[in-house]
Amino acid sequence: MQSQLSLEVLGVAGGAAPIYQGQCSSSLLILRNSQPYCLIDLGLGVTRTLIASNRTIPDRLIITHNHTDHAGELPVVLRVEQARGRRLQVIAETGVTRRLQQHRLAEHREQLIPEQLADWVSADEGQRIILDQDLALRFFAAQHSERCFGFVLYSIDENGDDKPVLGYSGDSGLKPSLYRQINQALVTIYDARENGNAWHAGFDQIRPWLSNTSFILGHGVNKSDSSHDLPLLWPGQKITLLEGE
Ligand SMILES: [Zn+2]
Repeated sequence: MQSQLSLEVLGVAGGAAPIYQGQCSSSLLILRNSQPYCLIDLGLGVTRTLIASNRTIPDRLIITHNHTDHAGELPVVLRVEQARGRRLQVIAETGVTRRLQQHRLAEHREQLIPEQLADWVSADEGQRIILDQDLALRFFAAQHSERCFGFVLYSIDENGDDKPVLGYSGDSGLKPSLYRQINQALVTIYDARENGNAWHAGFDQIRPWLSNTSFILGHGVNKSDSSHDLPLLWPGQKITLLEGE
């Protein structure tokens, strides 16, 4: 029996906006059979956004990289949930895991080592991570100013075959090798902004990669003044990934 899968956009902000303007950082909540299952990135503002909608932090966190707008709330959340008797699972590429453990969690080092704060699930690029009996994941390298990995989330069918359901670039400049992996999924989400640079693709660079099930997490665009014809995501938006059986 295949799970119903959907996602909800918690935030789309990046860089300084979560700090200077109080916006929620780029983050997606994966729901499995309508229940919060996994959080994609935990930058500043994400915990408050979840609490404001009467939700708690799900058991699993996928972290794409160690920038503050993607991992900034990790130290406090892991510590608070640990004190409540929970050990969250942190899923990240091997090198990203090392950075999170050494740098992001350094503030706990005198009291608690990373292994006491969370269950760490890491894998090298392309290596299959089994999340559940019917879900798996693979990381693929992004092109960013900090070591960063996008991923493909797979639904495992009754024959044990992986069916790509969600592809996400993480923060990335234009990277065809990454896009070829993530755009095999039923739904693909690209990082892009108005004016691209080496570390964030531009809207015009992403345009040729878009299909009718692609979306863009676009930092720095306001919904009120957006005149784009692009499939930009907005906080609160919900997307069905799999109908389920
Ligand atoms: Zn970043």
